[in-house]
Amino acid sequence: MTFTTLGLSDSLLRALANTGYKTPTPIQMKAIPAILSGGDVMASAQTGTGKTAGFVLPMLQQLSKGTKARPCRVRALILTPTRELAAQVHDSIITYGKHEKLSSTVVFGGVNINPQRQKLNHGVDLLVATPGRLLDLYQQNAIQFDDIELLVLDEADRMLDMGFIRDIRKILKLIPKRRQNLMFSATFSKDIRQLAGTICKKPIEIDVAPRNSTVETVSQNLYWVEKEHKADLLSELLQETHEQVLVFTRTKHGANKLVKRLGKDSISAIAIHGNKSQTQRTKALDEFKRDKVQILVATDIAARGIDIELLTLVVNFDLPHVPEDYVHRIGRTGRAGGSGQAISLVSREEKKQLRAIESLIKLKITPL
Ligand code: AMP
Repeated sequence: MTFTTLGLSDSLLRALANTGYKTPTPIQMKAIPAILSGGDVMASAQTGTGKTAGFVLPMLQQLSKGTKARPCRVRALILTPTRELAAQVHDSIITYGKHEKLSSTVVFGGVNINPQRQKLNHGVDLLVATPGRLLDLYQQNAIQFDDIELLVLDEADRMLDMGFIRDIRKILKLIPKRRQNLMFSATFSKDIRQLAGTICKKPIEIDVAPRNSTVETVSQNLYWVEKEHKADLLSELLQETHEQVLVFTRTKHGANKLVKRLGKDSISAIAIHGNKSQTQRTKALDEFKRDKVQILVATDIAARGIDIELLTLVVNFDLPHVPEDYVHRIGRTGRAGGSGQAISLVSREEKKQLRAIESLIKLKITPL
């Protein structure tokens, strides 16, 4: 199948030709026609599956047909849990929407609100936002919601995990009832289904990653190691590879401590977590992407949604408390058909977490 057969316009196909993508990914094959048909869509897909293009492309096509946004209004609202994801979705809009005559912007917290207010003045066709900042802008009368035709909740599961449910409910009350709804989530838990029930009308369900299953191309192993020896073991493992590695810690403090420790062993590492400013987070991610540092140490929330390609190894320095986070974490390796490895350093105290993860993924993680 090619992008042409999916019913995308010539101008979008031209933008796609520039990206070098040859064939649509499974989520794109299913989501693009479904969204173009105008129905609500509920899709289960992780980061790395190409889901962003899966909704951005058909949205651009739909919006190109209508009239441009009025001042202080938006026609399509895309909500994301993190600033990084918001920025990435907006980058995709710019890339794929290169030849469309549509306006877009991105708003998120942690940076000055005034430039964002100004950008909304003339109205935008597509707005990518994190929920809190969106509500701040609404309260400051910088934006009105009456022209919204299309709503996207990206990484809905993470939005719930991060406690955005109240903000989302507030936003839902403020926007028009008649609209197209698209919901994307890595996993479809009971809570997500419940939320979907209040948002979507008879959604077309798309499932490209079987629920709570782990990617088949990722080999998953563990080392039993006492807490105080984890850093030594990690350092040894990292010295054996020249590849870039994503390491997960449970806490922000743990991430900082680990970066310092690896530095002592001459391993270049950088941390990304919620206590860092937006500028620091962008810089860290950029340095990792440009291969200036070998190791990115991240907490679950900070790592969510960030687009780093082709990692062959992900290390869980600590196991996550929420088993679903394990699935998200290892989804960062073995993407796009390549093979990957996930190694977990597990201490005696983490046995319970390990069992919970194994029962979620229905797989025993074997020691190396
Ligand atoms: P996402 O799952 O949306 O975060 O996308 C993950 C990565 O896949 C991004 O870097 C995209 O640029 C890339 N991508 C999206 N669609 C395709 C495609 N059809 N072929 C190859 N790469 C793609």
